[in-house]
Amino acid sequence: MTPQFRFDNTYAKLPERFFARLPPTQVAAPQPIRVNVALAESLGLDGEALASPAGTAVLAGNVVPAGADPVAQAYAGHQFGNFVPQLGDGRAILLGEIVGGDGVRRDITLKGAGPTPFSRRGDGRAALGPVLREYIVSEAMAALGVPTTRALAAVTTGEAVWREAVLPGAVFTRVAASHIRTGTFQYFAARRDTEALRLLADYTIARHYPEAADAAEPYRALLEAVAARQADLVAQWLLIGFIHGVMNTDNMSVAGETIDYGPCAFMDAYDPGTVLSSIDQQGRYAYGNQPSIAHWNLTRLAETLLPLLADNEDAAIETAKAALASFRPRFMAAYEAGLCRKLGLPAASPQGVELVQDLLQRMSENAADFTLTFRSLADAAQDVAGDAAARAQFTDPAAYDSWAPAWRQALANAGHDPVAMRHANPAFIPRNHQVEAAITAAVERGDFTPFTDLLAVLARPRDDQPENARYRLPPKPEERVRATFCGT
Ligand code: AMP
Ligand code: MG
Repeated sequence: MTPQFRFDNTYAKLPERFFARLPPTQVAAPQPIRVNVALAESLGLDGEALASPAGTAVLAGNVVPAGADPVAQAYAGHQFGNFVPQLGDGRAILLGEIVGGDGVRRDITLKGAGPTPFSRRGDGRAALGPVLREYIVSEAMAALGVPTTRALAAVTTGEAVWREAVLPGAVFTRVAASHIRTGTFQYFAARRDTEALRLLADYTIARHYPEAADAAEPYRALLEAVAARQADLVAQWLLIGFIHGVMNTDNMSVAGETIDYGPCAFMDAYDPGTVLSSIDQQGRYAYGNQPSIAHWNLTRLAETLLPLLADNEDAAIETAKAALASFRPRFMAAYEAGLCRKLGLPAASPQGVELVQDLLQRMSENAADFTLTFRSLADAAQDVAGDAAARAQFTDPAAYDSWAPAWRQALANAGHDPVAMRHANPAFIPRNHQVEAAITAAVERGDFTPFTDLLAVLARPRDDQPENARYRLPPKPEERVRATFCGT
């Protein structure tokens, strides 16, 4: 039963220098791991067909489905601050686009689909572990309500990939609003190809920011709109303790989705300096640096747009600066409102912000678990007996006791909404040690049960799920994952 995709491709109709046209490379013996049936259905795809042997053949890249126009997209990017004029899809192939039931156009991409002209020295493949990590974390982010690329499916290839060790290979099917990155703009800017830049900007406006087309200055409006979406996105990351890990400009989607889950991780104990990525030696992409890095990346995007913003460079720079000035206030407003919601306060206020900053300071001094502390506040807000769980998060519980009365007073004054507060404070996040355990079981023992179980828990992150209480727990000292790896 070959799955049918109603492809309606637009990116592949852009000029040839936007991509390399090529099909995926076939693999030896693909086997299904999982199909995201709910997502498939929302996209108008037949989940059962995708899960069938014919579906597996498509998801592995062995069969190119009717209507696909496979391409590897060109892009550049700043990696850890260093500009690389050509990166591109070295192991991902865009099969095509489909318009879902919600009217939104989305890319269907195979990651790990074999070498492309952009592979440099890479093999074009993905190992099973990182595929499962991206599946788990991107679906958890979606369930948490954070804009993100999605996991449509994962299959094994029956082939080995050589990394630090010999590992089983896999292909991940990613669904994204698009794969246009800050680095896509940089690719053409580096080549001084203003015609391509304008085409790309117009394409991005039409696809993601149609309202910008009607603005007095459409390209300025585009920059402002991207800045706003990325400000909101990074605020959401911070509010759930997410660390992207590789915020290179090639990993920043101009559509404002979280993209390219590599060494990403959730923070356990609150510490703004938390870095888990093994490739981030300097801590450039630490939890608390993410807003300023997003701004740095947007500045790189703004630079690429200069030729479109005004006829003379000085005027263009002024326009870009004015557009970027909106980032900080937008981020702060989203972040502070979110923090106040986490305390149960319906609106941001200077007093609420002061309370939460005081709490965060105490949490960082007392190794308090970020997720559990806030979730227990939601319980404590309803019943003073809940204080026990909150104060237990602090190495010195007195740090909580001396903070809580002012918070209770603020809650009483503000009139608190328990449902909204629980919504702001999920109980379940993809904790590193649990993600690692699920990956290890699959990679070393071929046992996908922990992976499936973890996905089920993370699909309902705000429900209490008492039967799954163990998934709430931070790692025991011996379970702690100190570094996450890209595994590329
Ligand atoms: P990433 O670190 O996954 O964001 O990738 C950075 C760049 O390296 C992109 O151009 C990728 O396409 C490329 N890349 C990563 N892994 C591989 C691989 N196994 N084979 C070829 N290219 C790769
Ligand atoms: Mg990338």
